[in-house]
Amino acid sequence: MSDLLIMTPGPTEVSEEVRMAMSRKITNPDLDPEFFDFYLDVSSKLQQVLKTKNDVIIMSGEGILGLESACASLIEPGDKVLVLDNGIFGHSFADFADLYGADVTRWEFSYQAEIDIELLEQKLAEKNDFKFATLVHCETPTGIINNLADITALLNKYNILSVVDSVSAIGGVPIEVDKWGIDIILGGSQKCLSVPPGLTFMSVSDAAWTAVNQRKTAVRGYYTNLQLWQNWYEEKYFPYTQAISDIYALDAALDKWLIDKDIFKRHQNIAAAVRKSFQLSNLNLFAQNGYSDTVTAVEIPAGINYAELNQLMTETHNVMIASSLGKYEEKLLRIGHMGENCYEGKLYRTLKALDQSLRELNFDPGIKLHKTFINEML
Ligand SMILES: *Cc1c(COP(=O)(O)O)cnc(C)c1O
Repeated sequence: MSDLLIMTPGPTEVSEEVRMAMSRKITNPDLDPEFFDFYLDVSSKLQQVLKTKNDVIIMSGEGILGLESACASLIEPGDKVLVLDNGIFGHSFADFADLYGADVTRWEFSYQAEIDIELLEQKLAEKNDFKFATLVHCETPTGIINNLADITALLNKYNILSVVDSVSAIGGVPIEVDKWGIDIILGGSQKCLSVPPGLTFMSVSDAAWTAVNQRKTAVRGYYTNLQLWQNWYEEKYFPYTQAISDIYALDAALDKWLIDKDIFKRHQNIAAAVRKSFQLSNLNLFAQNGYSDTVTAVEIPAGINYAELNQLMTETHNVMIASSLGKYEEKLLRIGHMGENCYEGKLYRTLKALDQSLRELNFDPGIKLHKTFINEML
């Protein structure tokens, strides 16, 4: 397991600096005043990543905790919530909204393309009385990224708050929370920031705070209650003990991120070369447009059994990639080229392993995937 290259779309590879940060001596995060300043400092680094002055909260728990907290804290029974659905995660946002008693309207768009802005505009012109809308920035299971700037501009036109799951995009693509007027944007530690799983974070706009505070009924949850996170710094109080070692790791990853001036360019170039290699091969990309710079999904060719391919990839070639989720499980292969995974050498190794594994299973990719990739990088 030690030299297995983890090229999945989260969790991603973790750098030595981040791993070492996790082993630092800890303090008592509830009692040590310095911890509150440290936490504030980490929040301000996330503000720089997100380009926002909004409050940033870091919670102990995986990305799903952020999604659920936003729903739990915003929704009162009967509230109208719009769920924009062009993928597995987009679809299942409706389950959280349902769970907290929302009156859910789900608009389904093609799962092979980014959300069609004109179609969304037409639909919103007809119906727009929603308290908030949920949407997924990057649909990790299918490798599709939505145009967040255009979608949030439309939502803002109708005064609909936005709750954006950007778990697999934050850190890998440029995001302008304040400029685009995003109310709540949610991230996770284990995707493009390349910290082990364990943390979720979000930024919360003034309008979102007002909605959370003006609700008439109590939030049906404690761990998921954002109301408890408003004055943590002034009161030197967290609703629960913070996962200090995880936050040390996040801090180290953010330091690395903030000095990496080429990070978006690298994601763009590597993603483009990976896509191009597949396009020139006998494999088919799943997406028709809206290709994400953080993850690529290709169809598993007819006659190839995912379990066999995965076994060859991991045991013979020491590279782990992923299948997909839900109805795409065992139909799509996914390579996560985000965060620490996003280096030319790692993609070369991955595509070479894939190329050779496919050949061993009697599928001819048509070209040498790894060679084509390198040529495309030049
Ligand atoms: C990874 C991810 C999450 C968190 O979900 P897990 O599957 O539990 O890791 C949420 N949303 C998106 C879009 C993700 O990629």
